[in-house]
Amino acid sequence: MVWEIKTRYDLDSPSVFSAMLQVPRDKFSPKEYRHSAYGDSPVPIGHGQTMSQPYTVAFMTDLLNLKGKERVLEIGTGSGYQAAILSLLAKEVFTIEIIEDLARKARKKLAKLNFKNVYTKAGTGGVGWLEKAPFDAILVTAGIEGEVPQVLFDQLKEGGVLVAPVGKGSDKMMTKFFKGEDRKIKKEEHGIFHFVPFVRK
Ligand code: SAH
Repeated sequence: MVWEIKTRYDLDSPSVFSAMLQVPRDKFSPKEYRHSAYGDSPVPIGHGQTMSQPYTVAFMTDLLNLKGKERVLEIGTGSGYQAAILSLLAKEVFTIEIIEDLARKARKKLAKLNFKNVYTKAGTGGVGWLEKAPFDAILVTAGIEGEVPQVLFDQLKEGGVLVAPVGKGSDKMMTKFFKGEDRKIKKEEHGIFHFVPFVRK
């Protein structure tokens, strides 16, 4: 899978690839899709949601530029796979999932596989996670229609990065936002990706 990503796309991120080699993606797939867990495609996880395509996971994770000391907020736990990858690259990962059943399953899986620095929560990520803020990095893994909720920028440290797929319809622009020391937000666009919708609540 990692070899496929490396050869097919112009992405070279040794630390991200090393994390991907350590996380068993099949363990985060429902049983009936385990055989296809190492293909470069999304996997259905129930409730109309999917575990993101491995290339997308690699690309988003690379944009965060993690060095190992960060506290990261993920919005959209889904299967827990992306959170597991982040946990190997950052100090602590806080992850929120709006569908309770998925949140519960991901929590169980992450515990079983011994990802100890991942903290899960069922609920909406649209309000962030105030008790655990501020974060060095925030990753939204569902497609946002319209603006990124301001509260997420409020919970980002100065000097922090927020990565989110943003835009109208099913084509979302992968956007990297930087919060400067002056609290101003700058952004960079990184191409079109497809995502399940971010639920505004
Ligand atoms: N990171 C996941 C990808 C899951 S798809 C993985 O590795 O498997 C995106 C997830 O975002 C879905 O599970 C969806 O239920 C969740 N989601 C959508 N809107 C949300 C919101 N407002 N708060 C929290 N989770 C949300």
